[in-house]
Amino acid sequence: MLKFWNSLHRKQELFKPLHDQRVGLYTCGPTVYHPATIGNLRSYLFEDVLKRVLIFFGYTVTHVMNITDVGHLVSDADEGEDKIEREAKKSGKDAWALARENEALFLADLKKLNIIPANILPRATEHIQEQIDLIKILEEKGYTYRTSDGIYFDTSKFPSYGRLSGQKLEEKKAGARVAQNDEKKQASDFALWKFSPKKAKRQMEWESPWGVGFPGWHIECSAMSVNYLGQPFDIHCGGIDHLTVHHENEIAQSEAAFEKPLANYWMHNDFLLVDGKRMGKSEGNAYTLDEVIAKGFDPLAYRLFCLGAQYRSKLNFTWDGLEAAQHTLEKLREEARRLSDGVEPSETFLSAFKSALEDDLNSPVALAVVWDLLKSDESASVKGATLSYMDTVLGLGLGELVGKRVQAPANIVLLAKERASAREAKDWKRADALRVEIERAGWNIEDKNRGEFDLVPKRKI
Ligand code: AMP
Ligand code: ZN
Repeated sequence: MLKFWNSLHRKQELFKPLHDQRVGLYTCGPTVYHPATIGNLRSYLFEDVLKRVLIFFGYTVTHVMNITDVGHLVSDADEGEDKIEREAKKSGKDAWALARENEALFLADLKKLNIIPANILPRATEHIQEQIDLIKILEEKGYTYRTSDGIYFDTSKFPSYGRLSGQKLEEKKAGARVAQNDEKKQASDFALWKFSPKKAKRQMEWESPWGVGFPGWHIECSAMSVNYLGQPFDIHCGGIDHLTVHHENEIAQSEAAFEKPLANYWMHNDFLLVDGKRMGKSEGNAYTLDEVIAKGFDPLAYRLFCLGAQYRSKLNFTWDGLEAAQHTLEKLREEARRLSDGVEPSETFLSAFKSALEDDLNSPVALAVVWDLLKSDESASVKGATLSYMDTVLGLGLGELVGKRVQAPANIVLLAKERASAREAKDWKRADALRVEIERAGWNIEDKNRGEFDLVPKRKI
């Protein structure tokens, strides 16, 4: 039985979906003002593992991930410029083109990481009416007020505000940043609709009952989740930084509007760090996946690197760590090729694998089970079948390698045979020279009994 850490109740809970075998999953997507960092991608990898585990356990998942292409301001306190408009100005690009360009890069990154795309990927700019409609409901119910720069949600009208992060309104006020919008009634209040600035013309703006402007960032998730999944739905995910503001605000909007919970389970991944600090664009230590690939790494090595840590623990990124993951990946591929296609998996290893995942997606333990399986006395076909099953969750492309031994070319086989003869004749010098030649050509020889050998492609690194 699946157990997840539910941020809403701060404890591990048994997972019970609303509708027997169907699961509604909403994950906060990227703000497409820059190519995703590998830090961002850790979030999407965690969500992908969650989704694959749900499918592995027999659920049908409807997954919605929004694309934030408008409204995400530089500061969480509703101050500063829209990230996309700012980036467009800086680079001299059209805001729309910039958003589409980064969205395409993001989707390509997901593909490279073998992340199953969401069933629905709604863009904020294509759901302006839904957002306006939701703000209208909140307005009718008395949750909003107007300032000179927009329509705000009055958090004092929503008594359970702060429940997710466990912060009281007063604490939030006390801890709030100094630079505040003076017209806000509470520091925790947030924009639902922002007016276009009077002097400058925005590239992205729309008519609304309150004036020309654009939606606040949080409202898109509330509007699009109810639109595609209904309310409540089962699981809502995002990075840990979203918990205190963005998700708190989503809950306030959705629950104030429809008087029922937004989602039953809230799951948050912790950060990818670099040198012990958060990796982020604003921190100036962010790498993109393409930068990682340009250094010669397989993108799936990064996937494996992330699987090596449970999603709720911090993960420190180092190039050495990634290199180790690449070696491990090559080793796993080699092992997979050695196995044979089978239909009968090992129940023992599968159930150990499942137990690890049931325990709040404990991927490092699940990986340890994979190695236990490979080292075990099970037959090559049982191992092959079991690994293929496991790989539906791991997503490392191992399943398709099972039984696909790469044949060494004839000249290499010939050299290897010659070496075997040299060994038999105890001509170690000659045997060694031949081994070096074979290795230079990209092959390793693994000696077996009685002069037999295996030729295995050398690892890339
Ligand atoms: P954003 O595009 O800024 O909305 O962020 C996209 C996702 O990446 C969010 O779920 C963030 O919480 C998450 N995120 C941002 N930085 C990191 C990081 N260093 N490690 C893990 N997740 C992150
Ligand atoms: Zn969101």
